[in-house]
Amino acid sequence: MSITNQDCIFCKIINNQIKSDIIYQDNRILVFKDINPEAPVHLLIIPKEHIKNISEINSSNSDIIKHIFEKISELAVNLNINKDGYRVITNCGKHGGQTVEHLHFHVLAGRQLQWPPG
Ligand code: 5GP
Ligand code: ZN
Repeated sequence: MSITNQDCIFCKIINNQIKSDIIYQDNRILVFKDINPEAPVHLLIIPKEHIKNISEINSSNSDIIKHIFEKISELAVNLNINKDGYRVITNCGKHGGQTVEHLHFHVLAGRQLQWPPG
């Protein structure tokens, strides 16, 4: 695992090589709008460290997950989506539907979401 992967779209977003609509960032995470929104609110939360997906999370790097989920909870209040609700998703690998191999959490809100997913 490396801090930055030069071939990774999300690492390029972190390093400002690709523009994005940034909602929040600190030294460990970045929150930005999905380029192809599936709901009125569709954010992506990513670690700044290049981690491929949730399968690469273990006791040495799981602190980032705590930080991400604390931030999602806080952002949900600030964006006023906490009352009606929202969904947090991470797709992992081929069958999980992951298309970008840099760990990310989708936050979807602003409409009634269906279940189960396809
Ligand atoms: P996945 O399918 O891997 O779970 O999600 C990847 C997400 O990244 C997709 O929802 C896709 O729309 C989004 N995405 C891909 N490339 C870009 C980009 O260059 N900018 C932004 N803002 N989102 C992107
Ligand atoms: Zn990356």
